[in-house]
Amino acid sequence: MSTGPVEASFVGVALGMAVVTAYLVRWAIDARQRSQFEIAVYLLVMMGEMWAAPLVYLSDPSHQGLLVGVGASGTAMMVTVVPLLLSLFRTGRPQGVALAGPDAPPLALGLGAVLGLGAIVLANEFLMGWALSAAAGATVAVGGAVGAFAAVVNSPWFLLTMAAEMLLSAVLLRGRLPRSVMAIFLAQAAIMVFSPVAFASPSWVAVSIYVSSGLMIGLFVFLFEYLYRHRQLSEGLSAYWPELVGVYAVMMTGLFAWMYFGGGALFAVAVALEMLVFYAALGRPARFASTPTAPWPSRPNWAFAVLSLVFVAELGMGAVLSLQLDPADYVGGYPFLALSGAPGTIVLNAVSNGFWYFATSAASSWFLIMMGLEMGALVVFKMRESHNLENRIRLALMLGCYAAFAVFFPSIYFALVFPNAPPPVTVPVLGWSMGIGSYPLAVGVFGTLLVTYVVTGALTVLFGRRVICSVFCTAPVMYQGTTIDAMKSFNRSEPLGRKYLSSRLSALYAGTTAAVMLALVGTSILSYLDTTGAANVYIQGNDPSVFFFVLSFSVVWYVLFVSIPYAGNYNCVTMGWCYTGTIAQAFHKVGFFKLKVRDRQVCWDCTTLDCAKGCPVGLVDMPGHFRQTGEFRSTKCCGVGDCVEDCPYDNLYISDVRHWFRRRLGLPETRARRTAGPVARAGRRPTVLAAPVVPLSAEAIRLPMASGPVAAPAN
Ligand code: SF4
Ligand code: SF4
Repeated sequence: MSTGPVEASFVGVALGMAVVTAYLVRWAIDARQRSQFEIAVYLLVMMGEMWAAPLVYLSDPSHQGLLVGVGASGTAMMVTVVPLLLSLFRTGRPQGVALAGPDAPPLALGLGAVLGLGAIVLANEFLMGWALSAAAGATVAVGGAVGAFAAVVNSPWFLLTMAAEMLLSAVLLRGRLPRSVMAIFLAQAAIMVFSPVAFASPSWVAVSIYVSSGLMIGLFVFLFEYLYRHRQLSEGLSAYWPELVGVYAVMMTGLFAWMYFGGGALFAVAVALEMLVFYAALGRPARFASTPTAPWPSRPNWAFAVLSLVFVAELGMGAVLSLQLDPADYVGGYPFLALSGAPGTIVLNAVSNGFWYFATSAASSWFLIMMGLEMGALVVFKMRESHNLENRIRLALMLGCYAAFAVFFPSIYFALVFPNAPPPVTVPVLGWSMGIGSYPLAVGVFGTLLVTYVVTGALTVLFGRRVICSVFCTAPVMYQGTTIDAMKSFNRSEPLGRKYLSSRLSALYAGTTAAVMLALVGTSILSYLDTTGAANVYIQGNDPSVFFFVLSFSVVWYVLFVSIPYAGNYNCVTMGWCYTGTIAQAFHKVGFFKLKVRDRQVCWDCTTLDCAKGCPVGLVDMPGHFRQTGEFRSTKCCGVGDCVEDCPYDNLYISDVRHWFRRRLGLPETRARRTAGPVARAGRRPTVLAAPVVPLSAEAIRLPMASGPVAAPAN
């Protein structure tokens, strides 16, 4: 957009339009009586009709075109005033009924009314954007109706005016909106300002991608932390969060399509949808102060919708950042197939394109960086809440490992140090792909095995599976932030999650693990035979072991991650489908790690069973073992330490090689408990003397209460 005097006057027109529209929207939403609402709507419609004159003139810039345009505008205004007048006469004030004064409550507008209001505003902006774009010399009518729609909506005249209108409307109605909702609306307006499609300049595209991505990451962190702090949401927020993240899912996918293929239609559709959901929410502010809905941890479908839509938006954002920051690898680098040929071919190619869009984007460094920032922020919030030093250290190590193994080594270090390293497809990998054994370093099977198994295997024997599943792996950063951690309640409440409760290794678990390990060994052998020339087996052009790795960690892992509301948290561990975790289990089994209690009697007297409720892996049988033997050992245990953190009697600790040494030296294994037990002191935190004990029934907390002898853990 040039900044000549004509365009400057257009800016003034657009700003004026935004201000007047915002005031009329406020007037309509704040209407105390129906006639006020109808007049505001009529004025808004009239504003749109005004644009008929310049549009007709621009298509026929002659004296006749001017006359036709003015005539069309005037006629449209006269026609639309008729229903207004009819309505005003028909709904005239009944005898003896006073007009609603300024103190009367605003009208409770229905969904249809507010959606209609939003649609009128949208249409006005569209007509204005069309007229100003055409007047500024932009070619609008390219690519048919869809192309014209995208060109207008993606123009700065539309996007910036719309952002200003959102901002002003929200500010004008701030007295009726909670601060949290105002913050969301303001963030939305800012994200819309920084729409990369608004200007063609490369520097604008770059800056706007970075700023809007940063704002969106901040908004998602706010969303998750808000959910953590508010288990019950107002009716308005309960509806708005999934709608908004759904719009962002479409928008970020649309932005990727615009950058990769050059078509902006999907992005424009997302913008239009965003306007509609925004006005539907803004127009019914009372819903943000309404009775809270049922707690979201008891609504798995809702939680799944939010989690999966946020993920789709993040996937798009990761793809967009990769295209922008690493064009050499990503522009033209997605293995997309042409959507042409027989219907069956088109369907198969579309599935393949979807798979590789998912896998390539999820494996990109920028996606992992973005996820690290977002989920890492939630981990930092959790660290601030943690009162157990060992847990805080582990969380800090986990963040450091994520930065090192998900970002620094694969994306920066290997490329610098091994510029000529063989591409991953030529490297057979058997075993752990994460952590120290990352495959760009692995120049042969034995090198990989040696580095991986000796170092991480030894650490796992000494300190337990937590070395991998709670520190080295990138997964725990996603699992252990405040909100996702809170989703561990689904392990106990959902039918699928409940199938995998306790330390028992069910037949389903064993079958899954066996199938995954067979696939790992099979694809690794095939990969090796391929490199020696003895075989020639590739999956969609990919080395079998690399394909299996991509399938496992760039697709299946994320699908199951967003399925936490059904399958429960840490389902890679509970369901046994991660081969890395299975190998870690083998080392864990012969290692020093176990959970121990300081006083078994305290567990007998305990009514909270908070250790079991805090377990993100669903090891609900641990209290029974504590009562019987004073310790608990399970190969499913990832050593997260939430049980230690949550025991209200400071009765639990993790025992590993350090404690073994202390025993060997004749020293006490650990310090004494710092709090009184449940008999002497009551409550969730024993130091709070006034807190009453609230006994929970087994059914209420859905835990198998082991009061009699318990069998030894099966593993
Ligand atoms: S089971 Fe696999 S994906 Fe899950 S935390 Fe352990 S290593 Fe990571
Ligand atoms: S919460 Fe603490 S006291 Fe209660 S059973 Fe668990 S470890 Fe024992």
